[in-house]
Amino acid sequence: MSNDLIHAADRAAIQRLSAALNLPAFEMGWVWLAGAGPGDPGLITALGLHAIAAADVILYDSLSNESLLAFARPGVELIFSGKRGGMHSCKQCDISRTLVSLAQEHKRVLRLKGGDPLVFGRGAEEALTLAEAGVPFRIIPGVTAGIGGLAYAGIPVTHRDTNQVVTFLTGHGADGKLPELDWVSIARGSPTLVLYMARKYAGDVAAKLIAAGRSAAEPAAIVSNASLADQTVQVTTLACLGSEANKTSAPAILVIGENVTLREQMDWLGAVAGYALAIKSQAAIKDVS
Ligand code: SAH
Repeated sequence: MSNDLIHAADRAAIQRLSAALNLPAFEMGWVWLAGAGPGDPGLITALGLHAIAAADVILYDSLSNESLLAFARPGVELIFSGKRGGMHSCKQCDISRTLVSLAQEHKRVLRLKGGDPLVFGRGAEEALTLAEAGVPFRIIPGVTAGIGGLAYAGIPVTHRDTNQVVTFLTGHGADGKLPELDWVSIARGSPTLVLYMARKYAGDVAAKLIAAGRSAAEPAAIVSNASLADQTVQVTTLACLGSEANKTSAPAILVIGENVTLREQMDWLGAVAGYALAIKSQAAIKDVS
């Protein structure tokens, strides 16, 4: 069978799935802002896949898994609108304006973003522009790297015995610098921190947290290319986080907190590859019911 026939069969299967799940029709003149997940194409949602198969035009960014685009309809217009290597290959206002004008041409417009569109992804800016222009839109959440990526590293984002609070941070403010935050409150109030876009300033973040009282020996990890075939996980300490983070140029999630230690027992991907998981009895399974 030729590739075209395989893809036609795949699209027909997606359409059957969409009908079985009673998913909404992608109407002309609408913009759907969808998350593609952190990388593994299996992490896209059924709605996201349905949107790819139905869209007339797809604006996608550099972190979406491009293999998903094979399910788009023949003749679909594909527009790459991401940023690579910190270079703004396309300005945010241009993307938003393009979404508006494509919708006004009565197209079904899909804006496909890595992870979740509203988590450090500028999806809100785009939605606000659409709302202002009176363009109808739908938001399709995705698996965000700071949760799904950690799960692929065998690190639970919360665990009753380590952290009942988690804070998500970006290391990259609108001006490209580390945002001005209340680091003392963050250090004291949140046992686990999950940082996006923070490789560059990881050392500064660690220094601020240590100055605010966090232990230099606290566990931390760098999860690069999470959920992709070339995923790597570097477990380190808060003191060494900055130097370790500088060793990679891949997209990375940084996580700081005791929950990182659970990876020894929960690295399920490592187990798939044949590594033995540490077996520890749970010290106390507290009865909270
Ligand atoms: N909206 C996205 C985040 C976009 S910001 C989401 O919800 O996941 C881009 C940052 O996300 C990267 O700098 C990195 O910190 C993180 N990221 C995205 N995909 C990743 C991946 N596969 N592995 C590790 N980090 C990733």
